[in-house]
Amino acid sequence: MTRVGIGYDVHQYAEGRAFILGGVEIPHAKGLKGHSDADVLSHAIADAVLGALGEPDIGYWFPPSDASIEGISSLKILEKVAEIARSKGASIENVDSTVIAEAPKVKPHAAAMKERIGAALGISPDRVGIKATTNERLGFVGREEGVAAMAVACISLAPAAE
Ligand SMILES: [Zn+2]
Repeated sequence: MTRVGIGYDVHQYAEGRAFILGGVEIPHAKGLKGHSDADVLSHAIADAVLGALGEPDIGYWFPPSDASIEGISSLKILEKVAEIARSKGASIENVDSTVIAEAPKVKPHAAAMKERIGAALGISPDRVGIKATTNERLGFVGREEGVAAMAVACISLAPAAE
């Protein structure tokens, strides 16, 4: 059985933080605000996989109230999501994503992101899609107040034994 899921996430810009996207630190004037490393792309992908599995979202598995995950690398979150998938007998077939940001440029880092996200999910980098677009200067993304990401995931699930 093939199933799909979607994920969407937004993080606000914040001064004095590293800009982490898809597990890669990108040199930029400001980073993103969040309880973890605020990796908006990894979060959207995590939610897409969780959605395909019919599981609750990332906030359930990694509640902001949990001090033990403060500053956690979101690649760890993806590893946990892959573990949840395996525990349900599911294989992640592919994920695809779009980052919506005015800056910084994502493309020069996309190959490294595919490697890291693929490794965290236990799939080959060619099964990880990473695309980026600006918001044509419109809205909160256009004003560079934050960054958004959306993702889809496709999984295969063995039919439950009767
Ligand atoms: Zn997030």
